[in-house]
Amino acid sequence: MNGTALSRVVIVGAGHAGVETAAALRQHGFAGSITIVGEEPDLPYQRPPLSKEFLKSVEDTSLPLKGEAFYVTGDIDLRLGTVAERIDRDRRALVLAGGERIPYDHLVLATGARNRFPPVQGLDPSRVLELRTLAHARALTARLPDLRRVAVIGGGFIGLEVAALLRQRGIEVDVLEAAGRLMGRVLSPAMSDAFRTFHEEMGTRLRLGTVASEIAPRGDGFALTLSDGQALEADAVVVAAGVVPNVELAAAAGLAIDNGVVVDALLLTCDPAISAIGDCAAHPNPYGGDGPIRLESVQNAVDQGKCVAARLTGDARAYDALPWFWSHQGPIKLQIAGLATGADETVTRGDPAGGRFSVFVYREGRLIAVESVNSPADHMVARRLIAAGLSVPPAVAADPATDLKALIPRAA
Ligand SMILES: Cc1cc2nc3c(=O)[nH]c(=O)nc-3n(C[C@H](O)[C@H](O)[C@H](O)COP(=O)(O)OP(=O)(O)OC[C@H]3O[C@@H](n4cnc5c(N)ncnc54)[C@H](O)[C@@H]3O)c2cc1C
Repeated sequence: MNGTALSRVVIVGAGHAGVETAAALRQHGFAGSITIVGEEPDLPYQRPPLSKEFLKSVEDTSLPLKGEAFYVTGDIDLRLGTVAERIDRDRRALVLAGGERIPYDHLVLATGARNRFPPVQGLDPSRVLELRTLAHARALTARLPDLRRVAVIGGGFIGLEVAALLRQRGIEVDVLEAAGRLMGRVLSPAMSDAFRTFHEEMGTRLRLGTVASEIAPRGDGFALTLSDGQALEADAVVVAAGVVPNVELAAAAGLAIDNGVVVDALLLTCDPAISAIGDCAAHPNPYGGDGPIRLESVQNAVDQGKCVAARLTGDARAYDALPWFWSHQGPIKLQIAGLATGADETVTRGDPAGGRFSVFVYREGRLIAVESVNSPADHMVARRLIAAGLSVPPAVAADPATDLKALIPRAA
């Protein structure tokens, strides 16, 4: 891939990954044309606040990633409210709904993901609430004043963030989680247990190992039948049961798909003129064990955008950024450094009952992830340790007398 030969970059998806790619291209001095095609009508915005600050105030503020001036001064052609319908790989053109063709030298797929609706009898996606877009958040906030009781399907990050905010408004909340523990796909059992306590203390009813088997309209709300045979009534149902990557455009163009658009270490698809990044991309990750993984985080979207922009301007490097995440659930600020894939040991540093602690996660004696609650200093040190390939013996990490920062060599 020779950056100097490129004059037209087209990006599908105006989310965190797509906008960062455009910004980084200009930062690297790319002087060709940049087009971003995004199907949502709003100026590209940050998603994380939708389940956090946005729901706290019912003001309809938008949360732009960049001001309008960024696109004007950067000469970035931002096509909002526009769906990319087809990729003509032979002629290197993106075909928009309506037929317009946008030629490209390089195409970046940053199409993100959409919410998954579990197979529940009677679940009508148009009647329940969900949270992926600003439009969804507006719909949810508009309902807040009328809600007394809400059923949240899914005990992952977003379901629990919403549950905590609903509880802060005095709304009764039942969280249905199919797995036996909260955020089980991502967190260690020790941290899942701590969050179980936090949410129970907030007054949320947690129904673990339980799914809705049927949802039926009842008056202005819903009657739910649960897998344990119990019945539940709710004014509204919020579905937060994970996402599916938006791969249809890539699949129809014949690109490889496996739980996402498959890319190599450079984030290139099997077509050297097409990259895929962010929530939609299944990529090899040095922190993720064998086989491609898909990450759903702002860090990943932004760092992959930067990685592609660097390659397109002549600095091709394998993607190797350390994964990190955050989640705010009521007063609890969770930060995660690294990936807990294949973990076989954990130790806790600090006091869970005191609300400030970290769980250090190990695989075969090596530190692979650190989950911190209200302990930003632990998180920042963990990011540097893990990225530098340094480990801390479990007993040393758990010892409150250990100065973690002192373990980082000056060069790291
Ligand atoms: C409510 C919520 C809270 C979150 N909180 C956190 C958090 O606290 N921390 C964290 O790290 N991450 C969080 N995330 C995840 C994070 O927002 C995502 O990982 C990130 O947005 C991924 O960026 P992306 O650009 O890959 O995809 P997206 O942001 O999903 O953007 C993709 C865009 O592409 C558009 N698109 C798709 N197909 C087409 C097409 N054919 N034509 C045109 N446009 C198309 C989509 O409409 C969308 O606008 C949260 C997500 C949500 C929904």
